[in-house]
Amino acid sequence: MNNGEKGYIHSVITGGTVDGPGIRYVIFMQMCPLRCKFCHNPDTWQLQEDRQKSVEEILFDIKKYKNFFTLSNGGVTVSGGEPLLQAKFVLNLFKHLKKENIHTAIDTCGYINIDETILELFQYTDLFLFDIKHLNNEKHIELTGKDNKRIKNFLDELKRNNKNVWIRQVLIPNLTMDTEYINELIKYLDKYRPIIKKIELLPYHKMGKEKWKKLGMEYKLSADTPQKKDLSEIKRKFENNGYDVLLSS
Ligand code: SF4
Repeated sequence: MNNGEKGYIHSVITGGTVDGPGIRYVIFMQMCPLRCKFCHNPDTWQLQEDRQKSVEEILFDIKKYKNFFTLSNGGVTVSGGEPLLQAKFVLNLFKHLKKENIHTAIDTCGYINIDETILELFQYTDLFLFDIKHLNNEKHIELTGKDNKRIKNFLDELKRNNKNVWIRQVLIPNLTMDTEYINELIKYLDKYRPIIKKIELLPYHKMGKEKWKKLGMEYKLSADTPQKKDLSEIKRKFENNGYDVLLSS
């Protein structure tokens, strides 16, 4: 698309506390290969060519907040959309950030071809927030529009490169919360245990619904929001299996 000097940015937040450790500067990139039915950022999907920023512009802004990061052990997270669709831009940015000793994180769905740029980017990324949508391929297609083979391969690649990972799972009643699914997830994650630093459980919510409406799209997922006691039970299950677990509100 370009040489990575400029990125298509949807928006930024300067005091994020939910996308990685500490206080974070979060950059939401445009475009995503998936179409998750529960997506609360569908406004990032389409390319808006007039919203480009250079690495220098973003760096200039980030440096204004550097003290907040260092005091809180935070840093910079790129999210989206899917940031790895603009891997060259993220690589350029992260090279500068590492020179400044700033912690770097990528929130990814993992639906990405692994090429030289991605492998180089691994060297400059301190943490991956890796979203699992559904382990079952058919259900994954139903939920996101794409199969999960590439996503599972991506997690294998993170393991091969010994990268630190937080696993993120959206908990949706009747889809990703029943005992059978949770047991399967715990079993699946076992071989990645050495790289998993945290499990982040994200209770399904419908806050994105209004955005879908504004964009003229039909929100088709008809699921309830989870019960607190069910969420606590799932959290306990992961903890009993030795994981550090964060249950988001
Ligand atoms: S991967 Fe994330 S941004 Fe993309 S559609 Fe799914 S929830 Fe939305």
